[in-house]
Amino acid sequence: MTRRPYIVGNWKMHGTRAMLSEARAIDRAAQRHMKVEVALAPPYTLIHPIHREAEQIAVGAQDCHHADGGAHTGDISAAMIADAGATFVILGHSERRQDHAESDALVRSKAEAAFAAGLRVIMCCGESLATRESGGAARFVRAQLAASLPPVDAMPAELADRLCIAYEPIWAIGTGIAATTEDIAAMHAEIRALLIELLGPEHGPEVRILYGGSVKPDNAAAIFAVPEVGGALVGGASLTADSFMGIALAASDPLES
Ligand code: PEP
Repeated sequence: MTRRPYIVGNWKMHGTRAMLSEARAIDRAAQRHMKVEVALAPPYTLIHPIHREAEQIAVGAQDCHHADGGAHTGDISAAMIADAGATFVILGHSERRQDHAESDALVRSKAEAAFAAGLRVIMCCGESLATRESGGAARFVRAQLAASLPPVDAMPAELADRLCIAYEPIWAIGTGIAATTEDIAAMHAEIRALLIELLGPEHGPEVRILYGGSVKPDNAAAIFAVPEVGGALVGGASLTADSFMGIALAASDPLES
């Protein structure tokens, strides 16, 4: 990994104010692992409380609407989450694509809104088990990602800081069965080649590619050793400071621990 490893916790629909103590513990621990960039995406209701207290970790959202505002009951805009203290947003997560029928085009318009609001975007992609078993995983992920990203001239100039890709095979999310290091290496190489095609030789090699799907403290070091893995998007194991920071530790200099 050439840039600082980026370890992002996705709390999904977990967390009331009772979880603020866990966020505090993560923030305190992150101060001891400065070689790793640690971030949390809690539910919307906890973005501002965590932002107010955090000294080290970044806080982000798990989604945003594509419009700036208007008659969209129950939705929240990119500018609103930025106003609450978010500095990034996760977009195109498979649970949103499945539960809310989000298309690639919708995800792309959300990315445009998020960039316009000054946010960093973590763009998710990943294939289903059926697609993998049919041998079409690489083709599917390339097409999904190409259709979900705005054209390069519609994205910010400082792309390496503002865009991050998360490869999350759907069959590995929340199942306890992470992809093999061979599968991760092959897909991250595909994604890197696509990024160079789409973003050009200046930005394509720089944008970080995270792996997500059943990352735990005991498999993290092997995953972080895979070429082109720039960090992890972590669901279940980000809910406690112990397991989340166990993953961050695996990404940091062992001498720091
Ligand atoms: C996720 O949903 O982004 C995720 C990676 O979940 P888990 O770590 O629980 O597999």
